[in-house]
Amino acid sequence: MNDFYEKLISLLGEGNVIVDLPMRKQLSKDFYWYSPVLTDMLEDKIADYIVKPSNEEEIKSILSLAVQNKIPVTIRGAGTGNYGQIIPMNGGILIDTTRMNKIIQINEGCVRVEPGTKLGVIEKRLREQDQELCIYPSTFIKATAGGFVSGGSGGIGSITWGNLWDGNVLELRVITMEETPRTLTIRGEDMMNYIHSYGTTGIITEIVYRTTKSVEWLQCIVSFSTLESSLIFSEKLAKELTIKKRSISTCEWPIPSYFQPLQSVIEPEKHIVILEVEECSFELVKELASDYHGTVTIEIPSSKYHKGIRLSDFTWNHTTLWALKANEKMTYLQGSFSLDKYLEQIKLIKEKYKDEFYNHFDWMRSKGELIPQQIPLVRYKTKEHLYEMISFCESIGVKIFDPHTSLLEEGGWEAYIDSVVQKKSENDPHGLLNPGKIGVINDLVKG
Ligand code: FAD
Repeated sequence: MNDFYEKLISLLGEGNVIVDLPMRKQLSKDFYWYSPVLTDMLEDKIADYIVKPSNEEEIKSILSLAVQNKIPVTIRGAGTGNYGQIIPMNGGILIDTTRMNKIIQINEGCVRVEPGTKLGVIEKRLREQDQELCIYPSTFIKATAGGFVSGGSGGIGSITWGNLWDGNVLELRVITMEETPRTLTIRGEDMMNYIHSYGTTGIITEIVYRTTKSVEWLQCIVSFSTLESSLIFSEKLAKELTIKKRSISTCEWPIPSYFQPLQSVIEPEKHIVILEVEECSFELVKELASDYHGTVTIEIPSSKYHKGIRLSDFTWNHTTLWALKANEKMTYLQGSFSLDKYLEQIKLIKEKYKDEFYNHFDWMRSKGELIPQQIPLVRYKTKEHLYEMISFCESIGVKIFDPHTSLLEEGGWEAYIDSVVQKKSENDPHGLLNPGKIGVINDLVKG
């Protein structure tokens, strides 16, 4: 037993400090293995201590002790991130937030929660009070409120409300990584330094999410003979502002063949659109679908919403999960296509890569603009081949958010990186928070 371990135990109690190797290995991982590139890089990284604080005071004590001893600290919610965001590159302490799981306050239009609260629990409580979250990731049953802010981007609801940067996070309470940690209240523009910054600029202890009046959502799948008709239908529906929708996900065949639990409602060779739409607009949706010869193969009424099968389990990055279960040689990309030429962009990609690239769109609206956002499935050959594919996509105007890197700026958020680095130097002057995740800082350290 070393002195540092004894100090952690005196702060948190023996049951809340984990040094057992199998547990440390398990909790030091997220879903980085979606990427064969990251798998090779991150497999052997393990925290020395996992700690489970139950309140903000305990977080402050842990941070203060870590700064005094120059020990790195990484923070973990549910560990469902895809880019190795929670993986402790230099060992040290991994803070597990799951004991900090209170819903502090629900008001009309917002909810204040602790960081370890599961988004599924928040959504359930909100719906009991005729409200709902504006956006949540497809992993909402497991994912935490803090992990979504710091590691996610958008998801169910983004077709109407945009992503995390579009006003869906109203306020954060943040603790700095200093010998005497400060408590900050973050609102407005400064939010950019914390959203999707992998917990490198501070530890979030409270989040205020935007909420809205709940809607009776009907889930359905519409099946089409051509990819083009499935996409034009999706675009028209996305633009139809009189129909409320929470999700529009378009999948090229053979992606639907990977969705094992849905096989009884999947037609061979058909491209599908998975929808969450307001129940009272369903007739309008069916009319629009029939204009493009689309047929509804399953409809799940709002009375079964979030009970039993959830079609959101086949959207966003869940799509990749089903593909990996069916064929482990698959991997994925993330990209924003252009609304005025996405059909042309797809054609060029398909001409070059054929069955090495399968289209999967999750349509979203950001800053009022409709975006054909993709998480396409791609066949993995080598790292070089993958990056050649990325270069080709970028050469035809597709913005790629590279999911095969754990470096913040390489994942497509380079526009914010200078501001994040500046904020980190203020809040974490010794560079101890989740080290190794910002490339420009790594370069400075290497000299
Ligand atoms: P974690 O993975 O535990 O952490 C994510 C990041 O946040 C880490 O860098 C961590 O250090 C940091 N962090 C955690 N808590 C705090 C805190 N309190 N303070 C500061 N930093 C903190 N993402 C989407 O955006 N949309 C999707 O639809 C989506 N679908 C997915 C589907 C699948 C099948 C999978 C595997 C992943 C998907 N993801 C998606 C990624 C991920 O599930 C979400 O971003 C999720 O919200 C992360 O939450 P978490 O609690 O698991 O965070």
